[in-house]
Amino acid sequence: MYIEDTIAALSTPYGTGGIGVIRISGGQAFDTANKIFRSSKTIEEIHSHTVTYGKIVDPKLNDVVDEVLLLKMCKPNTFTREDVIEIHCHGGIVVVNRVLELIFKNGVRPAQPGEFTKRAFLNGRIDLSQAEAIIDLINSKTVESSKAAVSHLEGRLSLRLKSIREVLVGLLAHIEVTVDYPEHDIEEITGENVLENLIKIKEELITLAGTFERGKILREGIDIVIAGKPNVGKSSLLNQLSGSTKAIVTDIPGTTRDIIEEYVNIKGIPAKIIDTAGIRSTEDVVETIGVNRAYEAIESADLIIAVLSADTGVTEEDIQILKMIKNKKSLILINKTDLVEKNSISKIKQQLSECDIVLEASVIKDVGIEELETAISGLFIKGDISSNNEVLLTNARHKYLVDRAINDIEQALNSFETGMPLDMVTIDIKSCADSIGEITGESIDEAVLHNIFSRFCIGK
Ligand code: GDP
Ligand code: ZN
Repeated sequence: MYIEDTIAALSTPYGTGGIGVIRISGGQAFDTANKIFRSSKTIEEIHSHTVTYGKIVDPKLNDVVDEVLLLKMCKPNTFTREDVIEIHCHGGIVVVNRVLELIFKNGVRPAQPGEFTKRAFLNGRIDLSQAEAIIDLINSKTVESSKAAVSHLEGRLSLRLKSIREVLVGLLAHIEVTVDYPEHDIEEITGENVLENLIKIKEELITLAGTFERGKILREGIDIVIAGKPNVGKSSLLNQLSGSTKAIVTDIPGTTRDIIEEYVNIKGIPAKIIDTAGIRSTEDVVETIGVNRAYEAIESADLIIAVLSADTGVTEEDIQILKMIKNKKSLILINKTDLVEKNSISKIKQQLSECDIVLEASVIKDVGIEELETAISGLFIKGDISSNNEVLLTNARHKYLVDRAINDIEQALNSFETGMPLDMVTIDIKSCADSIGEITGESIDEAVLHNIFSRFCIGK
């Protein structure tokens, strides 16, 4: 068991919530609680995993700070596998800070970001990819992205990787015996055996690496820019997609002077949608700044929705915009179809025959929005993301290590082809096993650990 000093932090977000939960973890947790908690029972008398009502009292001044509920949890059945006290305070931030201060005066130090999770990892309760899944879960923006994190948290990625690593370690042991003790009784491992196993593992790792793009989209989301000349319905579209009226909609061309952003959920994909100022040359200085920022936003976007208006047809301004986004992933939306006849829509479509995806909509009538969302999600994710249970690689560190492991295997396969002796191949196999071990934390150094856990917020 890994033993350290006792730590505490506020585990709920800072601010004026209804309650604030303070968590204390470590060998001194119960002693400290005893000093500042008054109720009909002492901490020793309270049963593990039960809640007790009482008061937090400054022992020096005998001053009641807050009425609280206290949860006592004895190791090892706790998140950190240490003794844990949770204090559910009533108060706003001032009260929570006073309680924390009392705790820190009584033998406990403030937790660093991610330190509770780090202890859970170091005490063997979770492995590293699970710890990272906790960060992902805290940061996840849609149900689907949180599902991917939960699947990691349940250890599905770890299980998969552990079984691969076991095969590698088994191979290593077998090769060693074959090479070092030629006269042993164990069945000899042949080059063919090793080769077969390595090819299989390589395929498995490549499949896993292939899920990263999708995992990354779920985790980080995509940036979408809505582009188009003034008054085509860009802001209305943003409002429709986000279900709010944050963007200013007017019938005066050029009212969206700056960039407006909104986070929305498009069929499970977290998306940041940016409504740009109408793109056109203008004398108005404020508007010019907006237009320049629109160009920048288009450059860095993952997808551009170019909005045209059916009632004006394709104008010179539209053509300029289409030219500008020619090399970007984009789709074209012909809006305001409610204002025109069917055959004029067909005419517009003919003019746009060189564009890949052309959709129709009447944004204010909520027509064509569903189709638009389906098209967007189809551009980034093949198939239904929520229905399959495969393990997705969502973390850049994991992707890097899986790629390294694939590289090692390829190295090993190369050595085979050039007729190297078996024991030379073991170097690459070992390195592959190490790469995989770094994902789950079976082989990892302190610096990497520090880096990972510092990405948490305090109290997690
Ligand atoms: P933006 O300048 O491109 O952001 O355009 P807005 O979203 O501000 O819309 C300009 C005007 O067009 C507003 O009066 C909207 O109500 C109107 N509008 C937007 N979408 C539609 C549509 O589908 N049909 C019709 N008839 N009017 C629309
Ligand atoms: Zn607008």
